[in-house]
Formats: sequence, C-alpha cells, structure tokens
Amino acid sequence: MSALPPSKAPAAAPGEATKPSNFLRQIIEADLANGTYTARQWAGSPGDAAHHAAGQPDPAKIRTRFPPEPNGYLHIGHAKSICLNFGLARDYGGVCHLRFDDTNPEKEDTEYVNAIIDTVKWLGYDWNGAPDAAPYQASDYFDFMYRAAEYLVTAGHAYVDEQTVEQMRINRGDFGKPGVDSPFRSRTTAENLAIFREMRDGQHEDGSMVLRAKIDMASPNINMRDPAIYRIRRATHHHTGDKWCIYPMYTFAHPIEDALEQITHSICTLEFEDQRPFYDWLLARLCEGGLLASPPPRQYEFARLNLTYVVTSKRKLAQLVYDHKVSGWDDPRMPTIVGLRRRGYTPEALNLFAERIGVTKSDSWIDYSTLEGCLRETLDHSAPRTMAVLDPVKLVLTNWDAVMGAGKLDACSAPVHPHLPELGKRQFNIGKEVWIERGDYEETPPKGFFRLFPGNKVRLKYGHVISCTGAVKDASGRVTEVHAELIPDTKSGTPGADAVKVKGVITWVAVADGLPAEVRMYDRLFSDAQPDAGGKDFIESLNPNSLKVVHAIVEPSLAAAKADDKFQFERHGYFVADRVDHVQGTKLVFNLAVGLKDSWGK
Ligand code: ATP
Ligand code: MG
Repeated sequence: MSALPPSKAPAAAPGEATKPSNFLRQIIEADLANGTYTARQWAGSPGDAAHHAAGQPDPAKIRTRFPPEPNGYLHIGHAKSICLNFGLARDYGGVCHLRFDDTNPEKEDTEYVNAIIDTVKWLGYDWNGAPDAAPYQASDYFDFMYRAAEYLVTAGHAYVDEQTVEQMRINRGDFGKPGVDSPFRSRTTAENLAIFREMRDGQHEDGSMVLRAKIDMASPNINMRDPAIYRIRRATHHHTGDKWCIYPMYTFAHPIEDALEQITHSICTLEFEDQRPFYDWLLARLCEGGLLASPPPRQYEFARLNLTYVVTSKRKLAQLVYDHKVSGWDDPRMPTIVGLRRRGYTPEALNLFAERIGVTKSDSWIDYSTLEGCLRETLDHSAPRTMAVLDPVKLVLTNWDAVMGAGKLDACSAPVHPHLPELGKRQFNIGKEVWIERGDYEETPPKGFFRLFPGNKVRLKYGHVISCTGAVKDASGRVTEVHAELIPDTKSGTPGADAVKVKGVITWVAVADGLPAEVRMYDRLFSDAQPDAGGKDFIESLNPNSLKVVHAIVEPSLAAAKADDKFQFERHGYFVADRVDHVQGTKLVFNLAVGLKDSWGK
C-alpha cells in the first residue's frame, strides 16, 4: 500500500484528517498492489483494442466514470456518485470520465447537458484527464457497437428473434421456471447476419424483431436468458441524426462504453447487480474476439443514496417543476444540485456529505439533517456574521436625547467572524430607535424568559445595556413600539461595560441605517420522511409551509452582499444572497440555508 500516490484531496474538513476506507477503496488498493491494470495502454481517446494497442502505457492508474443520461438536472444522489467516482480517481492517481449516456434516441436538451457540465465543475472536478476537455458521449460509439453486434452474430453468440413481445415475455420464463428457446434461435449465422443487416438498412418495421445475445434460456439469472441487444427504432438522434434506425439496448451499450474508454472500475448502484454477469459475458466475448483491449473493466455496485424528506428521481423532480409545485429546477427547496446551490450549499458541504455517508453495499436511509449538518459545519467556519431582524418591531430608547443627544448616532462595531480576526470588523450605528425581534418582548414573561419585559435589563448585542419600561399597543392589543431606557457607560467594548449584569442579549438593527431585505424562510418540501416510498403519491405530502417570505431589516454591511455570498444572521441561522433575485446594494434577497442548530422536529 505504501506505493500509493499521496491523496490529492483538497484539505480535509475539520475533524476529518483521514478518509475512512470502504470496500471500493480496498478493491482499488488491491488492484494497484497486484498490478491488475499496469499493462493497460491508452491511446489518448476511447477506442477498440487496436486503437489502444498503438497508444502508450496508461498514465492513469485507474479510470472511473460518471455517466449521466442528459434527461434532467442532477440531484443529491448524483452528487454522491460524482464525489465518489471523481474522488477515487483523484485519490489514486487516476482519471474520471464524464460521459453523456445518450444511446437512447430521445430528445436531448442542451439545457441539461450544459447544466450537468456546470454542476460537475462546480463540485470541483474536471474530467477526461484535462481541464475543459470535452465530455465523452456514448453515441460516438454507435459504429463500434454495431461492429460488436455483427461480431457476436458471426461468432454464433447472437441471433435475430422475430417473436412478438408477448411471446418473448412468456418464453422468458420466470424466477422458478426456465425459459423456452425461441423458434428463431437456431438460425444459421449467415441468415442472422443477413437479417441483422436488413434491420440496419431499414427493411423491417419498428418492433418487428430484435437482435438477442445467445446465452442460456435456462439460466437462473433472467438477465442471462438471451437479452435483447439491438432494437429497431426509427428515431432521429440528436447527434447521429437519421444514420441509424436500430439502437443498442442499455445493457449492451454500457459495458462497451466502459471498455472503449478503458475504465478499470465501473461503479454503479445496486440495481445493476443482476446485470453484472451479462456485463462480464459480453466483454469476455469481445475481448476474446480481439475487438476490445484486455483486461476489461469490472463492475462494482454500491447502495444508492436515499435521503429523507426529498424525492430523488429526475422524473418526479420534473413533475414538481412542470406542475409548478416549485419555482423551477433551481428552487431552493429542490434536492437538485442547482437547487441546493441556490439554497446556500457549497461544494465543500456536498463533498463533506458524500465523505461522511460513505459507500456501502446495503440500502439505507440517510437523514436529511445529516446533509444540513454538513452545510452548517462548513458555513460556521467561513460565513461572516451580521445582524438581521426578521420580524421587526420598533424599540424606542426614551432617554436617548437626554443621555446621548438629540439626533445623535453612536458608532458600534463587531467582528466579521469571531474566530477569524483577519476578516476585520463591521460597522453600524445605534440611535434612538432600533428594530428588534417582536418575539423578544413579552408583557408578561413566561418562566425563564430573559429578554425584554417591563423592569428587565438586556444588552443590545455590541451596544448598550437597556432597561425596558413597557410598550405601546394598537387598538387590537398588538405591540407597535417597545420602550426602554439606555443605561449610560455600558457600551460593549468600553471600560466598565460589564458593570451592569444582564441575563439576556438581543440582536437589533438601527432604524437609521438598517436596510430592508426580503428573506425567504425555507422548510422541508415534504412533511413525510419518505414521500414516495411504497408507491405513495409524493404530491400529497408536499409541505404547505415550506416557504414563508418575510420583510426583514438587516445590518448596513449587507449592502455589499453579492449573489451567492453566505452569512450567519446572528441568532437566526445561515443565509445566502439569492443568486437569481438579489441585486447588490439595490434589492436584498436572502434565502435561509440552514438554522443554527438541528431543531427540526423538536
Ligand atoms: P434518475 O432515476 O434520477 O433518473 P438515474 O440513475 O437514471 O437517476 P443517470 O443519469 O442515469 O440517472 O445516473 C447517472 C449516475 O448517477 C449513475 O451512475 C447512477 O448510478 C448515479 N445515481 C443516480 N441516482 C443516484 C443515487 N440516488 N445515489 C447514488 N448514485 C446515483
Ligand atoms: Mg436513468
């Protein structure tokens, strides 16, 4: 193991000096120790055996890949896969490929392609061995896939089946019942080749026949009972146009894509476990025929991420968008990576999350608060502090004119970050009138309430100690103004400031220099921890209170906030300047990223 290259991981998060091992790391370390892949060649681009044979010894010690289908925005589950695949390549001196799996001739949206590219970059990774390299695309391999299929036909490993879909289904058998050979299974090689070429040339109807691998109709693994590998489908592909009217099936295409790219460790989610025997069978046939370089890639499965309080299926996320349950793919309540980003999540937080949840071989649920904890931790270390009043009521210091002078403002300052003195101080004023939280005043305080009530003293954080004298109410009994007297010589940071002891400290913003801001208070999008488990209609558990917009008053330093900047609003939580609607200095819009403590459900 000592021969391993040093990890090039970014600085570990606090408390995470070394990465915990996992079964994939163990496999890779064993492969490196045994030299399993040291003889591989790489020709600088994907290709067949001859192509790579003309190349160099592969400088990448391992190759992994992230192969999204460009049919939606990536979500937190994909983040797990990205951090895993790119992280392993980085840690073991390898390369991770970004490959668009576009073998399905469905309409691809360049919006999705671009969003995926941006997301992977944003998470901190580059692909295919060079910064800004073009991602690979599976449709570039159609010619080879067709050649591979012809090879299987000529080697007696594939045949054209003209059974109807229904006949094929019945003859496949089931778990306890072996399948029955198709009447077309014994066609000659010449006949199969001729008909397969007719399929390619458009001489047969869509759905009238398929090319099937010839393996074993009695296999206990149903995926090995002569799986279909090519189908007829007259569809215009966004890259190859009308060149093809036959398309490879995913289970045939995917292993070939991996092999052409010289992937060593092909990591996928558990539902593909039953496909692994076919993956191995297919690559063994194509290596044996000299079409693909040896050794072929190996597939390994890990448990997909199941996160409570969200849905992670592109189809279901699309439904939320198209039914206007959210404002878009990047709505800050969405578990999409663009949504999480707009919510204030950082690449550091998502990488930390992926690291913390680890990889296992058995399915489990991760609590949403684990994700929130990662964000809170990373923001705590970096986010500048500010004061904001989210539910403002006016506090009048009735003796201000007498003790401080009419119309006078008094300058206060506070550290930008309590543990990062190098970030300096922020400045703001205190005056006769300040905004405080409505909830910080109680006419008749409940037990244990140490904030404002008649006769009690509190400190205005970074300011003076004040003594509450009462409040003014409107006809309905609602407090419109809280009154207090300032106690001279108690200003924070001045000699003797602590002479008057108080139990409560409250946050505030001066009426004179506070700035209005829209603050979007987000809560979980669903009120059910497993909104779509067991086929439930997830729309029914949408949380009607997942967004509350409040009109807040914030500290003047926030005039400089730029979109995406994150802050701690003291006592309230972490907030991010909205990347869509916030306009620096003009229109302040902040989103709640995460609270200060994990208080959900308590
Ligand atoms: P969806 O069901 O949301 O459409 P998908 O699996 O079809 O997801 P792909 O674009 O095909 O999406 O996935 C790209 C990669 O991301 C795959 O390798 C897949 O295994 C991985 N992936 C998708 N969802 C998760 C998840 N919840 N946890 C871990 N990995 C995931
Ligand atoms: Mg998919």
